[in-house]
Amino acid sequence: MYGAGRRGGGSVSAMSGALVLNATYEPLGVVPRRRAVVLVLAHRAEVLHDTGLAMHSENLTVPVPSVIRLRSYVKVPFRRRAPLNRRGVFARDGHRCQYCEGAAESIDHVIPRSKGGEHVWENVVAACRACNVRKGDRLLASTNMQLRRPPAAPHERTWVVVAVGSVPEAWEPYLSPATLSA
Ligand SMILES: [Zn+2]
Repeated sequence: MYGAGRRGGGSVSAMSGALVLNATYEPLGVVPRRRAVVLVLAHRAEVLHDTGLAMHSENLTVPVPSVIRLRSYVKVPFRRRAPLNRRGVFARDGHRCQYCEGAAESIDHVIPRSKGGEHVWENVVAACRACNVRKGDRLLASTNMQLRRPPAAPHERTWVVVAVGSVPEAWEPYLSPATLSA
């Protein structure tokens, strides 16, 4: 399906998706490359950066995009949130226990669910098994444990890492805050 005509550097093989930017250049998410090709062919998006790969169909050869920008502005009612799961929490917290900085092995609800704590980004942290057990079903205030930093909804970098494993070099310029002022 993919042509061999690769050019340029970069770990193309590590990427399975294309970064989608709003018409305003605000990053919206990651879509499968095939979907990105469809958006470009339908003139709904323009290619800002391509992978150097080509996708061949019967009578068409299309460059496979790495970064696309939607031609018309899509209204996003609130900041797009990455799905809350173990992989995302680990990525946000750098795979480190947020209590002792050891290797994270589990997810801890800061306010335990049994005490009304919600399963939301602001109430979950990566934790090592020992800290998780030590904290148990208690509120943080009744332990002598401390969080390295208050948990928050992840930045766009986190959902990129969750989607494709790492931030491809070609995407860096589009993810830096400076591009958002355009
Ligand atoms: Zn720990």
